[in-house]
Amino acid sequence: EDRIISAQYMGEDGALESLRPRYLEEYIGQKQVKENLRVFIQAAKMRQEALDHVLLYGPPGLGKTTLSNIIANELGVNIRITSGPAIERPGDLAAILTNLQQGDVLFIDEIHRLHRTVEEVLYPAMEDFALDIIIGKGPSARSVRLDLPPFTLVGATTRAGLLSSPLRDRFGVVSHLDYYTVEDLCRIVVRAADILQVKILPDAAVEIAGRSRGTPRVANRLLKRVRDFAQVRGDGIITRDLAADALRQIQVDPLGLDQVDHKLLLSIMDKFQGGPVGLDTIAATIGEEPDTIEDVYEPYLLQIGFLQRTPRGRVVTNGAYAHFGRVAPNESGS
Ligand code: ADP
Repeated sequence: EDRIISAQYMGEDGALESLRPRYLEEYIGQKQVKENLRVFIQAAKMRQEALDHVLLYGPPGLGKTTLSNIIANELGVNIRITSGPAIERPGDLAAILTNLQQGDVLFIDEIHRLHRTVEEVLYPAMEDFALDIIIGKGPSARSVRLDLPPFTLVGATTRAGLLSSPLRDRFGVVSHLDYYTVEDLCRIVVRAADILQVKILPDAAVEIAGRSRGTPRVANRLLKRVRDFAQVRGDGIITRDLAADALRQIQVDPLGLDQVDHKLLLSIMDKFQGGPVGLDTIAATIGEEPDTIEDVYEPYLLQIGFLQRTPRGRVVTNGAYAHFGRVAPNESGS
């Protein structure tokens, strides 16, 4: 997984940690989500209570982790970060929960991937701030209830539909993060360039923003690559031409699609007459995991209307054919 436009977390992003906004004030876009959170956070602080549990859902790279850190910073509490697959046994979760302090934020990324048995520990923890543990074995075994400090669970998932309903129902605040507009991404690029201390012209920021597939993580990553070109091939200043050349060089097309997107769309066109074709078949054809296709590649292709999901499978649209300078089979009269 080394696609430049991948919205998934990659190792080198660590170097971009400095770009993460730390307070709501610095968090660009997602106006509705931000405004609501600001109110809920302030109310919780006024009542000196833990904030209600928050579920954040939306495609990878849109700022869910960032937002959970911001929530903790705004509340002035500690944050403990983990992920669904990382919590293997109920005891692991119990250990995390008993180590929380009053009002702390527990962030669980990919919360839809929690093991069933672990999830069951979470229900009383979320609802009653309690932990039910079994002491002893066999006929003498009994259940003991331990009190936990009130805390805020922030869960993140790429798709809310993957959550079991008992879990989903226990979140007081459910916020959907949407793809960012080019304007917002522009501001993100300009802010990041400022932090990285690289000069960028406004139309160059537009060029990068336009190819960032609505995703701040991608915008930051593209900026970093373009900065390399500016340093080596230019005079350090990112101009529009330089940005466009650099992005072409690293094979990110004007819509932000890369080689894997191209492979996915072209294989449906060439091998399956544009579809419909099942997800597993596509996955096998292009050598990617079905889950990865569904979580990472498809959402943006659906968003820009290049792909459609139908009951019989995925279908490539006329717009996608046009993007590749082709005529769709249903338009050529054949
Ligand atoms: P997610 O958890 O949804 O996958 P992250 O919170 O890790 O996404 O965000 C990826 C990167 O994008 C962050 O490191 C941050 O630099 C940047 N980012 C995300 N949202 C914003 C935003 N609203 N404003 C500025 N930068 C952002």
